[in-house]
Amino acid sequence: MSDSWKKRTRAVHAGTRRSQYGEVSEAIFLTQGFVYDTAEAAEARFIETGPDEFIYGRYGNPTVAMFEDRIAALEGAEDAFATASGMAAVSGALMSMLKSGDHVVSARALFGSCLYVLEDILTRYGVEVTFVDGCDLAQWKEAIRPDTRAVFFESVSNPTLEVIDVPAVAELAHQVGATVIVDNVFSTPVFSSAIEQGVDVVVYSATKHIDGQGRTLGGVILGTKEHIRKVVEPYMKHTGGSMSPFTAWVMLKGLETMELRVRAQATSAHVLAETLQGHPKLARVIYPGLADHAQHDVAQRIMAGKGGTVLSLDIAGGQAAAFRFLNALNVAVISNNLGDAKSIVTHPATTTHQRLSDDQRAVLGITPGLVRMSVGLEDPEDLVADVLGALDAV
Ligand SMILES: *Cc1c(COP(=O)(O)O)cnc(C)c1O
Repeated sequence: MSDSWKKRTRAVHAGTRRSQYGEVSEAIFLTQGFVYDTAEAAEARFIETGPDEFIYGRYGNPTVAMFEDRIAALEGAEDAFATASGMAAVSGALMSMLKSGDHVVSARALFGSCLYVLEDILTRYGVEVTFVDGCDLAQWKEAIRPDTRAVFFESVSNPTLEVIDVPAVAELAHQVGATVIVDNVFSTPVFSSAIEQGVDVVVYSATKHIDGQGRTLGGVILGTKEHIRKVVEPYMKHTGGSMSPFTAWVMLKGLETMELRVRAQATSAHVLAETLQGHPKLARVIYPGLADHAQHDVAQRIMAGKGGTVLSLDIAGGQAAAFRFLNALNVAVISNNLGDAKSIVTHPATTTHQRLSDDQRAVLGITPGLVRMSVGLEDPEDLVADVLGALDAV
């Protein structure tokens, strides 16, 4: 790979490894293990494993290595470790570097499973976690202490789409030497410049825009070579959350078209948000690309001037109205994934964020009428007609 290659070229070619057959497309190496020519060679490989040498599927695999190198090249990170799901990546990024007695500061507005890892699991092992309103820099400043080991946040939160000032929080964390870990799903690898903006460890659920067609679960942890190989890899390879070669093959295929898909989806999301703004059946349209979004300026800086592929609609009339809206849609389907080619609508209060108390949901702005819409690859005119028609039914 040449250092001058742009993202789209990297997305198609970076990391490619060809076998003796010279295949054009990436091969799936569906094998658990690898044969050593001699006993001495086996011993040597366990002492030191070269960049294109493999031991066992849980440790690494050629197809998985192609995916890791390609996504690292796209993100501008030195290295990456691919995981079995986005949550394996989030929990691995945190657990691999933390120990009992450490202090973590985290934004409060998080995907339900991320919140569970921070609030229920880390604390069980003696890690102290302070939650803050991620959009309030004063709260970060107050919570970050000289002994803070790490800060964690979703750059754009799920499902209320709060946008966090990545460079500003990174600077506060670095003043005390804390590691900045960011779940970057909603920013997408297409619009992200997280590493450039000071993030030390970037995490993606590859299930979302990287697969992009809703087929497989996967994740990835990106960072410096030193951090990925010395801290993340030992934890991941011994605890069993590695990505399968088949998944890596699907993800490599996804990366080739990701930029085109994500840009088209973000354009449609923007069209929908603008069309729906001020609609009488909506209490609020939340989309970081709209000028009235509370962190619009921050979104412009951290998402390359785009608003992303997801918008949230607060349907006036609460849960009953939201359910009528969901049930009246004909194009968008009711499910809970995002970043898919198919538009997907979710009612967070009764599904992804059901576990939270009414108070917790209220603090996060997850109202009974809130609907999250992940915009897919359908014709935007059909999507607008679908949403307007369903709002008529409310
Ligand atoms: C989906 C998601 C995850 C979890 O990813 P899985 O692949 O489902 O394990 C984590 N964080 C965010 C922000 C997500 O949207």
